[in-house]
Amino acid sequence: AAPVRFESVTKMFGKDVVAVDNIDLHVDAGKLVTLLGPSGCGKTTTLRMIAGLEMATSGKITIGDRDVTKLPATDRDVSMVFQSYALFPHMSVLENVKYGLTFSGFGKDEARSRALHGLDLVGLKGFDNRLPSELSGGQQQRVAVARALVLEPQVLLFDEPLSNLDAKLRRQVREDIRAIQQDLGLTVVYVTHDQEEALAVSDEIVVMRNAAIAQIGTPRQLYDAPNDRFVADFIGEANLLACQITSVDGEMASIEIEGYRHTLSSRGMSEGPATVAIRPSRLVIGIEQGIVATVAKATYVGVRMEYTLTGAFGQVFAVHDDVDAPLEPGTEVQMGFAEKGPVLLPE
Ligand code: ADP
Ligand code: MG
Repeated sequence: AAPVRFESVTKMFGKDVVAVDNIDLHVDAGKLVTLLGPSGCGKTTTLRMIAGLEMATSGKITIGDRDVTKLPATDRDVSMVFQSYALFPHMSVLENVKYGLTFSGFGKDEARSRALHGLDLVGLKGFDNRLPSELSGGQQQRVAVARALVLEPQVLLFDEPLSNLDAKLRRQVREDIRAIQQDLGLTVVYVTHDQEEALAVSDEIVVMRNAAIAQIGTPRQLYDAPNDRFVADFIGEANLLACQITSVDGEMASIEIEGYRHTLSSRGMSEGPATVAIRPSRLVIGIEQGIVATVAKATYVGVRMEYTLTGAFGQVFAVHDDVDAPLEPGTEVQMGFAEKGPVLLPE
């Protein structure tokens, strides 16, 4: 497994489309890094530039010590798993997995034993003689993963590999991919537009927006300390409230919303209007001298209650584990923030 590095990489399609705009990126060897962002933000293009399926318009791409910027795909020692499994329908599972191996010059016996080992790794031992059509979607995607794995690439790339699977299988296959990646110490770059998937599998997440990188961090860093409204909203769910920073004392700031006061990290900001982001589970309902709100909606979802609260501030979404004594719609409450809950963002 090798690290991947992008230095000031840009990809243009024609004169007008900037698909990737001057990004710097570093993926450590043996880590799983996710490119996360809305459709069209440049994730697939970034991945395809690692694979050599697109050539960078400018900038430098290295894999390990090798400058691969101008290398063709076949010389990069990278494999890619796509959204559609792209298995050969008339070939058995074993033949599908062996296919790339015979191409890369492995002898018949070696290719066979590697392919069988690959199927073993993805939990498909004994499925070697089946046809793809005799497998479920999740099993077909595992064959595609095995096919990429057995080549023992320096870097393994996944482009939305779970999109064609139903919700339950998605969870299972993503856990399998993560387990294999960790067991074998693979360098993986994983593309998804699904924030929950990204949070679940990643060592690090690169949030992309409009062809650029909005923020890079561990799942926890992005969840707990998003840099701006876009990241706060895209990773998990965030309530965004207008506030005033009334004073700043070193690292700490005091904020005020409708008479309710809270102290939190200033994050380098100064007095004046700002935004505060607060997660649904970090809103505290039923305090004194809080922000006045009315329960607009209360939904029981089994493990917890979900509330929509409205007030002069607008609307917020809160979750609470008071399933046995839920608040009724129409109830007036006062709400505040849990100690470590809120994060200041630029206005
Ligand atoms: P994502 O994978 O995040 O949805 P893409 O990397 O596929 O985004 O696309 C980024 C941008 O580049 C989009 O505006 C898309 O329309 C454009 N794009 C991608 N591939 C091509 C292409 N082959 N020709 C022209 N424009 C392209
Ligand atoms: Mg894409």
